[in-house]
Amino acid sequence: MKILVTGGAGFIGSAVIRHLIDDMKYEVINLDKLTYAGNLESLRGVAHDPLYHFERADICNVDDVSRIFRKYQPDKVMHLAAESHVDRSIDGASEFIQSNIVGTYILLDEARQYWQGLDDTKKVQFRFHHISTDEVYGDLESEDNLFREDTPYAPSSPYAASKASSDHLVRAWYRTYQLPIVITNCSNNYGPYQFPEKLIPLVILNALEGKPLPIYGNGSQIRDWLHVEDHARALVRVMLKGVEGETYNIGGHNEKTNLEVVKTICDILDELAPGRNNPKLSAQNLTLQNYNELIVFVEDRPGHDLRYAIDAEKIEQELGWVPDENFESGIRKTVSWYLKNNEWCQHVQDGSYQGERLGITV
Ligand code: NAD
Repeated sequence: MKILVTGGAGFIGSAVIRHLIDDMKYEVINLDKLTYAGNLESLRGVAHDPLYHFERADICNVDDVSRIFRKYQPDKVMHLAAESHVDRSIDGASEFIQSNIVGTYILLDEARQYWQGLDDTKKVQFRFHHISTDEVYGDLESEDNLFREDTPYAPSSPYAASKASSDHLVRAWYRTYQLPIVITNCSNNYGPYQFPEKLIPLVILNALEGKPLPIYGNGSQIRDWLHVEDHARALVRVMLKGVEGETYNIGGHNEKTNLEVVKTICDILDELAPGRNNPKLSAQNLTLQNYNELIVFVEDRPGHDLRYAIDAEKIEQELGWVPDENFESGIRKTVSWYLKNNEWCQHVQDGSYQGERLGITV
């Protein structure tokens, strides 16, 4: 089976590709523009596998997308390429409109044309799997509420609105052209290879450097955290077994406030990399009993939703997926990973591995 994955050099895409090649032995074509968030270093383990192909391309480029469909003749598409950072979308939404809405339209319509030309057997097996977020649903008002697949869309940020738009396009291509699609909406992910501008890696790396740990507002925002490898397994399950035209919500039943997340990371770091043994802190004459002394509260992000939480019953009941990790086990593994993979962190931060390792000009 050949799977075209867009955004495969990103955080979740790279976890999906590692799972598809290492565990499932599927052939994968990674279509990625390599923005600041894409890094081929996250795919080092599969880069030389004959099952892996890489195409540096922009999903907004019709000619490139069309050429890639013709060249590889994929059986399925998993579409993850997107601008994904809410703060960046607030500073400037243009790239979000371009990649998340226009790019999804171009990929979707090239997929439609390609799918319409397939023979009947391949046509039935084809899937366009659009990977989206729980942020399309907006804020949860009461503590008892959960996001279900039929929760009305009410996106708050430019990022969430761009993803909501792309979900609508994908559904329209199903209703209008019968393109066999599936959509997944997932909660916040964490785990290895996440770009260090997102909360969890940012806190780990800042703490180790003795830098402030910034928390928006009073840190009471609640997110439902899912380990990225559990998400990757769920995505592959939906791609293979999901019913066409359906949406599946994916979540880990791990609701935590941002403050709880940061304090948990600090406690694990106190145990695994205590401040008294940290040469970066002593070089700054910084003595800490606990890393949580570095926490600072900063002005809240505009339009910041208070609570997201997923009802994952549909994917659990219908497709038999359940997460392997709970937050406590997953966050401990994640902190350990960042402690062991300092080189990767440095390279993504200075951009020195964006493509050069595989001889690609940036
Ligand atoms: P990421 O920012 O880490 O990676 C995005 C990848 O897409 C990068 O490799 C980037 O180079 C590529 N890309 C961006 N624009 C492109 C374009 N125009 N053409 C080709 N490639 C392009 O993102 P992520 O966290 O891995 O998220 C992947 C997907 O999952 C996104 O669609 C996001 O909306 C969704 N999602 C993310 C989360 C989360 O917690 N991170 C949760 C739910 C859903």
